[in-house]
Order: sequence, then structure tokens, then C-alpha cells
Amino acid sequence: MSYDPNNIFAKILRGEIPCHKVHEDADALVFMDVMPQSPGHALVVPKVASRNLLDADPAVIAKVMPLVQKVAVAAKTAFNADGVSIAQFNEEAGGQTVFHLHFHVMPRFEGQPLKMHGRNMEDAAVLAANAEKLKAALAQ
Ligand code: 5GP
Repeated sequence: MSYDPNNIFAKILRGEIPCHKVHEDADALVFMDVMPQSPGHALVVPKVASRNLLDADPAVIAKVMPLVQKVAVAAKTAFNADGVSIAQFNEEAGGQTVFHLHFHVMPRFEGQPLKMHGRNMEDAAVLAANAEKLKAALAQ
């Protein structure tokens, strides 16, 4: 399987499609998932192209994991969460639907199961407000 440069996250990375941006640096972009599985569900996306973890350069993984950790810590604060789930899916059989490497950061709340993966679109106003909350917590 090869990398398709026209996948939706590649288009977001190139600025061809909008997103609710939380953070950007030379190596990665963080933005809100439009179909959140929990309130505050964000995606950490390395800029270097790979389909997923299986074909990623280990140097890219090494660079992005500290950011995943930072976003997880910030998400717990920003959304007053009880915990945080990190998810990463590989290939269709592994549950992946967008074929550019990304890590899900999902705030978790006692007694609240995750919603279905990639099912219900959130209101743009809610996504914008959550992006601001997460941005503020990241800046602390
Ligand atoms: P995967 O199944 O590949 O691990 O996750 C892809 C994620 O991307 C899903 O959680 C889905 O809700 C999200 N997603 C799909 N299309 C878009 C989009 O256009 N913008 C954003 N921000 N998220 C998207």
C-alpha cells in the first residue's frame, strides 16, 4: 500500500481544507477531530508523509510522541477529564479510515464510554471553543 497525497489530512496539512487548529510547529499539526469520540478529541498529525505507524520513519515517531504526551496532559487539564485515551489505527483492518499517520487524544470521563469512531459530526462552534481551550492549556 502506498501513500496517497490526496488523503484528507494531507489536504489539511497543505492548508487546502480548513481545520480547528490547536498547535502547529515544524514537525506536526494538532487539530480537533470533526467527529469526536469524546468532548475535546484532538488529532496529532506528523507533517512527514506516511500511511500509518507501519511505514513511518522511527525518527518521526520519536519526534511526535513527546507532543502526543503534551497534548494529552493539556487535554486532561483543558476539559477537566478523569483520564485520557490515546489511539492509533493501522490499515483498514486495523480500524484506520484516514491514511496519513495520526494519533487520537481523547479526554475520558468516569462512566462515559467513547462514542462511535468517525460517526457524528460535531458543531463547528463546539469544535472552535474546544480548540481554544486546548490551545490555552498547551500554552500553560
Ligand atoms: P482513523 O480512523 O484514520 O484513525 O481516524 C480518522 C479520524 O479523522 C476520525 O476520528 C474522523 O472523525 C476524523 N476525520 C475524518 N475526516 C476529517 C476531517 O475532514 N477533519 C477532521 N478534523 N477530522 C476528520
